[in-house]
Amino acid sequence: MPRLSEVIAELDALWPPQRAESWDAVGTVCGDPDAEVTRVLFAVDPVQEIADEAVALGADLLVTHHPLYLRGTTTVAAGHFKGRVVHTLIKNDVALHVAHTNADTADPGVSDALAGALGLRVTGPLVPENNLGRICELDRPETLADFAARAAARLPATAQGVRVAGDPGATVRRVAVSGGSGDSLFDAVRAAGVDAFLTADLRHHPVSEATQRSPLGLVDAAHWATEWPWCELAAAQLDEISDRRGWDLRVHVSKTVTDPWSAHFVPAATPPEGASHAPSGHTSPGAPN
Ligand SMILES: [Zn+2]
Repeated sequence: MPRLSEVIAELDALWPPQRAESWDAVGTVCGDPDAEVTRVLFAVDPVQEIADEAVALGADLLVTHHPLYLRGTTTVAAGHFKGRVVHTLIKNDVALHVAHTNADTADPGVSDALAGALGLRVTGPLVPENNLGRICELDRPETLADFAARAAARLPATAQGVRVAGDPGATVRRVAVSGGSGDSLFDAVRAAGVDAFLTADLRHHPVSEATQRSPLGLVDAAHWATEWPWCELAAAQLDEISDRRGWDLRVHVSKTVTDPWSAHFVPAATPPEGASHAPSGHTSPGAPN
């Protein structure tokens, strides 16, 4: 069985920590480098439910995309929710390792996994300088509504679901995708000249301006859902390493939805009197989903 330090060395080769953004906090949060590793769990968020899942699974290593601590702390006391995670992990001999912006910029990385989940053909990076996001082609043109429906069907279900901005009937051939918050990438998306952009955490003003400026279609999925496919990609990568090195690791992907949004209501109410709306792609009957 490999030591934690040997497994981490392989993970660092997949996602070199020096490629993380300067503000980021990647790497090993807790764990004994000499401890043996037999079972590994991948998840997006290092939250208490995931720590508990790692313990119940008998995992020796939890690898998450999001950092537990992004800024410095002076306490890991269990009275604080983050300290509770640290206590749960250490008391049960579970190491925690984070691959965040170094996994975003890796090849293959978070956006490759997102494109793969959607069945898209990647033709190159959206931002070549730091390898962020991906430009993709569809096998055949489809409407923006069908493209969004594809995302809703192929990404794991969340309360948020998938939102669309722009004409749902517009034709989509080339798209940009970026896992996680993508609204800092609008300039690159416009420069790429794609028909649609799929990402997460899009806000009113950038979306309003983007759709006023050009017929770009926008597809906004839950942050967690756009990054979860990376867990499957990462687990497959570690499985392959384990086979190659004869480690016989047991590698798992958490299916727990840790997107913080827990319900979504779409009222059947009509817009304010006299108001009209651009062509609507609403298909939800209004029940929380
Ligand atoms: Zn994220």
